[in-house]
Amino acid sequence: MRARITKTIQSYLLIFYFLLMSSLNTNAQNTTISGYLPDHNTFVGIEVKDGLIERINTIAPAKQNESKIYVAPGLIDTQVNGYASISFNREGLTGEKIEGLTRAMWREGVTTFFPTIITNPSELIRENLKILTLALKNNPRLSNSIPGYFLEGPYISPIDGFRGAHAKEWVRLPDWEEFSGFYQAAEGKIIQVGVAPEINGAMAFIKKCRDLGIGISLAHHNATADQVEEAVKLGARVSTHLGNGCANTIHRHDNPIWPQLSNDLLTPSIIADGHHLRREELRVFFKVKGPENLMLVSDATELAGMPPGTYSWNGKEVIMTEDGMLKYPAQNVLAGASFPVKTGVKNMMGMADCSLEESLMMATATPAKVYNLDDRGMLKEGLRADMILFTIEEGEIVIQQTILGGEVVYQRD
Ligand SMILES: [Zn+2]
Repeated sequence: MRARITKTIQSYLLIFYFLLMSSLNTNAQNTTISGYLPDHNTFVGIEVKDGLIERINTIAPAKQNESKIYVAPGLIDTQVNGYASISFNREGLTGEKIEGLTRAMWREGVTTFFPTIITNPSELIRENLKILTLALKNNPRLSNSIPGYFLEGPYISPIDGFRGAHAKEWVRLPDWEEFSGFYQAAEGKIIQVGVAPEINGAMAFIKKCRDLGIGISLAHHNATADQVEEAVKLGARVSTHLGNGCANTIHRHDNPIWPQLSNDLLTPSIIADGHHLRREELRVFFKVKGPENLMLVSDATELAGMPPGTYSWNGKEVIMTEDGMLKYPAQNVLAGASFPVKTGVKNMMGMADCSLEESLMMATATPAKVYNLDDRGMLKEGLRADMILFTIEEGEIVIQQTILGGEVVYQRD
């Protein structure tokens, strides 16, 4: 017992030492961040200058220790509907709320995320895009973390099951004029639009988006193999939360999962929260796509980070179970997720036998590559100094420090 307490104290002292070393001079031009790379063996000192990674030196660790401090690129989560009681999809969004949500993301080690706008009346979507864009203009730290938005709805399947928890009354066919209004409100910051390829006008819409350089993801759909292929030919490159946004009962041959999984040009995103996909699905998706072609997303909603209970969510009754599942009983579907993306990183190691390196890649380098975020996503000289320092405690990833553009934006107490 005593030895255990001594060991714990030693671990804490060591963590404190590393944090002190890392956080010293955070306001100065030059900082050095030290830690183990996710390969578990290489200990590096990362020199930061003017917010960029200046140099990465392999050095001898100060001490051999059991609670290793790891250093990795800041996490990238490309599907965040909300968090900690704040939603991007409700009326009354403010710059202050966006800042609060961004701080919550930093606490979870996320340095880049896409606020995700779902199916709603046109005016609400436009209004929230405007509010987001104004907030980014007023706060450069926010715009460093939010390169743009993901418009997941409203141009998705209206059919129960495929539609998921999106409101049926507001699901609609692609409308270029309406979308142009969204694009204008967002001042061009829509990075990706979700589309069901099988609905009327979807293919022409996909083509127009690609011509503007907007990413297309296949989302909440029941497309045939031919429709998936055509959408990919026209420019779709992402499958949104593959295996979800899909009816509970589907045809064993003709369903939307196989054609997306088998298409080499599609990078699926997956929700590896332990509820949305079974272990076997995670393993198959990982084996087929590999860490370079698979992305982890949280799909977190405003109920993420809240205690279990029954909530009213956009006028619907949603239940958060003890183990963090968000159920929408009226449709027998899930209503988004309640865990941050680092939970997916942990789960992929346990459920799909990924290494820490591979698992992190799916929430850093791979989304950076898919969305052309060339200035981040890796620990590499010349890239922006977006980093996390973390420990692994009882199998959980515990964020110790989050660094955005060389500045410490979260420090564990
Ligand atoms: Zn969805």
